[in-house]
Amino acid sequence: MDAMRILLVEDVHLERMQLAMRLQRLGHVVEATGSGLEAIEKYTQFDPDLVLLDVSMPDMSGTEVAKRMRELYPDWVPIIFLSGHDEPEMIATAIDMGGDDYLVKPVNKIVLVAKLKAMLRIVQMRRELKTTHEQLASANEHLSQLVNEDGLTKVANRRFLDQKLSEMISWHGRNNLPMAMVMIDVDHFKAFNDYYGHLEGDRCLQSIATDLKTTFSRAGELVARYGGEEFVVLLSHCDKTRAVKECERLKQSVQQLEIPHSRSTTAELVTVSQGMVSWVPTGLETPENMYEIVDKVLYKAKEQGRNRFVAAEFT
Ligand code: GH3
Ligand code: MG
Ligand code: MG
Ligand code: MG
Repeated sequence: MDAMRILLVEDVHLERMQLAMRLQRLGHVVEATGSGLEAIEKYTQFDPDLVLLDVSMPDMSGTEVAKRMRELYPDWVPIIFLSGHDEPEMIATAIDMGGDDYLVKPVNKIVLVAKLKAMLRIVQMRRELKTTHEQLASANEHLSQLVNEDGLTKVANRRFLDQKLSEMISWHGRNNLPMAMVMIDVDHFKAFNDYYGHLEGDRCLQSIATDLKTTFSRAGELVARYGGEEFVVLLSHCDKTRAVKECERLKQSVQQLEIPHSRSTTAELVTVSQGMVSWVPTGLETPENMYEIVDKVLYKAKEQGRNRFVAAEFT
């Protein structure tokens, strides 16, 4: 890629036309204007790789234009000044004002080609840097998603669950609002694995996870994999009456998946047991406290025959 997008700013019409033509003949894409103000306006739309900027212009001096461009557009683009003067002070000032190089008019053809070549190197490095930066940003986004996601089921992982649960406890505690947590365990899953195989077991967990995610997809609802064949649902702003309904909904929706389980002594299909708690946090509960509470009632649900939920008495 040897072509650059060059924004040419030169107030003298003839000089502008001549230089634009030379640049175009060298293969570049040129946007030419005779006004500094217009150049600033065109900058965003044209998105130049390089700016060739006349120092003395009637509406706004080139150095002022450069200064404004540097202030307005943090995305650095090289600027070469064009001037009839070659006094060292002028050149020094121009560089101080944000320019990167200086060309004395009338512009010598060999010097022009050489300077464009040098600028092209910078432009290419800048483009590569930009691409690398974009790739890094997208890789980072992907990574942070992976860090919070369970690899098998694609729902939130334990790490994310712990974090969200802590946040929700604090928030509901501060606002004096109820929240609920449901711990879900697949019934007779060892027997499922033994009979249908581990791979089919994985598929079963994936189906349940996807189903839970669809069932609890509203704002303030989170589905996570707690461990092995256990999931947790967090429900923000949820009192016990609603929590009971959500547990019933959850039970129905897993049953409706109709995953055969011929080795279950509970039903012919895969079922789950649930332990639930709904409470208004003080804000001081830890995730571990709460996991312990729902785990105990989940055990009761198992004891009472599975495929059901038991709510904890906790206030
Ligand atoms: P209960 O009804 O009392 O819950 O019985 P259970 O068989 O489900 O309970 P148990 O804890 O004995 O068995 C859980 C099984 O879940 C054992 C383990 O191999 C299986 N398991 C845990 N994680 C995975 C997984 O990622 N994939 C598969 N396929 N199986 C898993
Ligand atoms: Mg001029
Ligand atoms: Mg278990
Ligand atoms: Mg189980």
